Amino acid sequence: MSLPPLVEPAAELTVDEVRRYSRHLIIPDVGMSGQKRLKNAKVLVIGAGGLGSPALLYLAAAGVGTLGIVEFDEVDESNLQRQIIHGQSDVGRPKAISAKESVAEVNPLVNVIVHGERLDNDNVFEVFKGYDLIVDGTDNFATRYMVNDAAYFLGIPYVWGSIYRFDGQASVFAPTLTDDAPCYRCLYPEPPPPGMVPSCAEGGVLGVLCASIGSIQVNEAIKLLTGIGDPLVGKLMIYDALEMEYRKLKVRKDPKCDLCGEQATVTGLIDYEYFCGAVSEEAADAAADATISVTQLASMLKEREEGSRDFVLVDVREPNEYEINQIPGSVLIPKGEFLSGAALEQLPSDKQLVLHCKSGVRSAECLAIVKGAGYADAVHVGGGVVAWVNQIDPSQPSY
Ligand SMILES: [Zn+2]
Repeated sequence: MSLPPLVEPAAELTVDEVRRYSRHLIIPDVGMSGQKRLKNAKVLVIGAGGLGSPALLYLAAAGVGTLGIVEFDEVDESNLQRQIIHGQSDVGRPKAISAKESVAEVNPLVNVIVHGERLDNDNVFEVFKGYDLIVDGTDNFATRYMVNDAAYFLGIPYVWGSIYRFDGQASVFAPTLTDDAPCYRCLYPEPPPPGMVPSCAEGGVLGVLCASIGSIQVNEAIKLLTGIGDPLVGKLMIYDALEMEYRKLKVRKDPKCDLCGEQATVTGLIDYEYFCGAVSEEAADAAADATISVTQLASMLKEREEGSRDFVLVDVREPNEYEINQIPGSVLIPKGEFLSGAALEQLPSDKQLVLHCKSGVRSAECLAIVKGAGYADAVHVGGGVVAWVNQIDPSQPSY
C-alpha cells in the first residue's frame, strides 16, 4: 500500500542544497520534488538515546528541514557504547544539547527545536503539535502508550522501534491516515506485566542493533514524508541480529481496539504509569509481606461466612469496573478516596482490611496508605479480580 506524501514540497532548493543532496536528487523516485518535501518536513524524534542517535543523524543528513528533539536526560559514559550522536566530551551534558550540536555539524541547514523536558500528559500535546511525523525512540511502555494515544488524537503518524539485546522491531502506526491502518494498541492491547520485560538498562542491548532499527525508522520516515515506496503500515518488522534474519508480519487493525476501534474506551490521555503497572516503591514495600492469593481469599471468605473470621473486603476500583465483575462480599471504595483520606473515615478501625483491584497495582498503593494509617494486618489480593475470575469464578466476565 502506498500513501500520498505527508508534506508539500518547499518552493526552491538553494545552490548549496542542490550540491549537498545531489545523491538523492539523481534517484528518480526522490528527485527534486522529494528533496523539497524533506526540506519542508517537520519531524519530532522522541529520545536522543539508542534509537534517536542514528535516527537524528540520518534525518539531518537527509535534509529534513526541521527536527525536534525531546530529551531530558544527560549523557552518561554507559551511553557511548551505542548513542553515537554523543561523544566523550559530552558526558554530563544534556543529551538534547549534545544532539543538537551533532546535528548542526552534520547539516547546518537543519532547524533544530529542543524540547528539553520529560514527556508527560501535561506537555505531550504542546510538544507534538505542528510536526508532520514522529519517530519514537522511547524505551519504556508508559511513554510508548502515551505517544501512541497522543499521536492518534492529534492525527500525526509515527514510526515506532524497539530494541533488546539482539532483537529489534519496527512499524509505522498511522490509524488516522487510512481506515485499515492499526495503532500500537491494536498490536499490543495490554502492556506486559510489570517486571516481565526487562529494559535495556537491565537486560542489555547490542550497540549496533540501535543503528539497524534506527535506520529502518528513518527509512520509513523518508518514505512517508516523500510518498515513495510501501511503508510499514499494518506490518511489523522483526529483526534477529544473531540469525541475521528480517521477518515481516501483518498487523491488522483491531476493530475492538480501545483507542482506534469502533467502540473506543480511551477517549483522552490516561494514567500511563498506572496502566503499565509501575508500582511505587512504597506500594511494593507494603505488599512485600502482605499479599494473599485468590485461593486464600476464597477460604477466608468461607470462614467469614461461617463466623470464624471477620474482615472487610474492599474493592478499590472505579464504579464502572465494579459493574463488570465483583468478588462477592466486597464493598466498593475507589482508590481516589484512599488518596484523599475519605476512605479511612468509612472503615472500621478494629477489623482487618483486605484490599483488591483489577490486577493488584492499585490495591498495593492503597495498602501502603492503610498500613501507614495503622492497619498493620491489612493485606491485598495479588492478581485482583482478574485472578479471581480466572481461578475461582470463570462464570463472571473479565475485562
Ligand atoms: Zn488501535
